[in-house]
Formats: sequence, C-alpha cells, structure tokens
Amino acid sequence: MIDKSIIDEMYREGYRVAQYGIYTKKSKPYKTFKIPVDAGFSCPNKNNDDSGCIFCPKMGRPIAVKYCNIKYPLKEQIEMQMKKQKSKGIEKFYIYFYPGTNTYADLETLKELWDLALSYDDVIGLSIGTRPDCLEKEKLDILEEYVKEGYEIWIDLGIQTMHQKTLELLNRKHNVSDTIRAIKECKKRNILVCGHVILGLPNETWSEMMETARILSILEVDALKIYPLVVVKNTKLEEMYWRGEYRALDEKQYINLVCDFLEHLSPYVLIQRISKDKVPEDIKVSPEWSLSRLRILNEVNKELERRNSRQGAKYNL
Ligand code: SF4
Repeated sequence: MIDKSIIDEMYREGYRVAQYGIYTKKSKPYKTFKIPVDAGFSCPNKNNDDSGCIFCPKMGRPIAVKYCNIKYPLKEQIEMQMKKQKSKGIEKFYIYFYPGTNTYADLETLKELWDLALSYDDVIGLSIGTRPDCLEKEKLDILEEYVKEGYEIWIDLGIQTMHQKTLELLNRKHNVSDTIRAIKECKKRNILVCGHVILGLPNETWSEMMETARILSILEVDALKIYPLVVVKNTKLEEMYWRGEYRALDEKQYINLVCDFLEHLSPYVLIQRISKDKVPEDIKVSPEWSLSRLRILNEVNKELERRNSRQGAKYNL
C-alpha cells in the first residue's frame, strides 16, 4: 500500500528522512488532514488496577486540541474541525481516534463509531490509536471490510519498545509477542500500521533501541511516530523522577539518538513524527527543552546532513 517509488524519489530529491507529510503530498492529488477525536475510550491497563503505564497520567486527558474533547458529541467534534480545515483549503480527511485505547469496546459500539466517522463524503480513512493486546480478530475483520471498500485504515499502535524487560518496567501489561502478532495480523489485511516508539526509556541501552528499529523494519511497519520520554504530572514516572531514579535525555542526546535510530531503520518506513509537541506546558515536568516538532525535525535533518547520512544508511550493515 505504501508506494516505495515515491519514497525513492524523495531521497533522490535530497530528503534525508521519509517524511509522511511530504509522501502524502506527493501521493495524493488533494490536501489531507487528520481530525483527532475523543470518543471517550478508557484503557484495559487502567481499568484492571488503575495503575496503567508509568508515563500515562492517572487522571485527565491531556489534549491540546479544542474540539477533540469528550464534552462534544463525536459528530460535533468531526464537523467543527472539518469546517475549520476546509476553510484553509483542506479537501479530504482521516478521523483519528486518539485518547485512550480506541478498540477497547464491544464490536457493536466500535462499528457504530467507525461507520459514523466514515459516513462523511470527504473522509477517506481512519487512524485508530490502540494497544497491541486489544486487536482481536473480529475487530480486525470489521476494519478489513472498510479496506475492501477502498478506505485507508491505519492502526496507531503503542509499541514503545521491542524489549520485554522494558515493557515490564513500563507496566505495559502486554508482551512483545502481542506486538508482533498485531502487526502481522494488520499487514495480512492491508491495514496500515503506524507504530509509536519511545527513545530514552529507563534502562534501555543504545543497542536495544537500534534493535527495536531493525525488528520493526523486518516486520515492515508502514510508519512510525518516534517520541522522547516525557515526564508529566500525576504519573509513576514523575514519582521516579523526583526520587532521582529517572533523568530525561537532553536535547542533543535525543537528536543524536533519533538520527542513529533512523539510520538503523528501513528507508521505507514513513516517519510521521519525531517529537511530542502537544504536551501542555502546565503538566510537563521534564525535559525542559522545547518539544516543537518542526524544530526537532530541523535539528535532525541538520545532524544527518553533518553526518552525510540519511534514514536507512545503516539498515543493511
Ligand atoms: S496503554 Fe495507553 S492509555 Fe493505557 S495506560 Fe498505557 S499509555 Fe495510558
């Protein structure tokens, strides 16, 4: 589904990273936008014992987009944002089910939400944020039907790392094998996978992070969002931070790590993000440096240029 020839063309033109935004502009004859929506999903990792992942806030939904808010009905969230984006010349949309685990409901509820999102003429697909252990066959079968109808369906999969010991430290409560299964089952059905990974997780070595890049390349994830680990208020990670058990990467370390990671990744994995710039400042504890996505991308490009390198440069070494 991803057209590798377009990515090759991007490298020929001098791009050092397979940026999703550039790829989309080249591959689609219209401008697109992802509308984030909050359909009120919770998470199995919070419902069981209310602990959740160590970096996930215990309360609240730290969203910085006005209409991505459960206080508005889904229809209103979509229509208000669509109207605004259309006034800026955007023609086609994906609906991005974002906060929580967006496949954590019964089939009927999920289908109702997805059908509503896809009922708009200008919606060409969905992005669904979820966990690897929450993608049962029946849910994937519904999504596969949308793919067959011509929609572009993305699963935004919280992977974080391909190392079991780190998943346990993060209290993710799923296994690496769940991640591998989820990716393979999506690929089998032509559902696109955008994995989310975090660099700078507690106790992870450089080699382990590079190994995550290689494994995800071999599994042929279609895209990645790469994030620094951000300490926010009301998390276990915040408690670790104040006890001196975790220190966030500084900006230079993060930029170097992103470049190393990209070099070890397949050149054909699209990169959707390399920062997490939507964390409201009032809940951010660390790092202190600006997470602005464009600024970080700029710095990463400068560093790759300094190295005379690009994404995938060390993938086959
Ligand atoms: S899986 Fe996602 S929503 Fe659930 S606890 Fe972890 S970070 Fe939070």
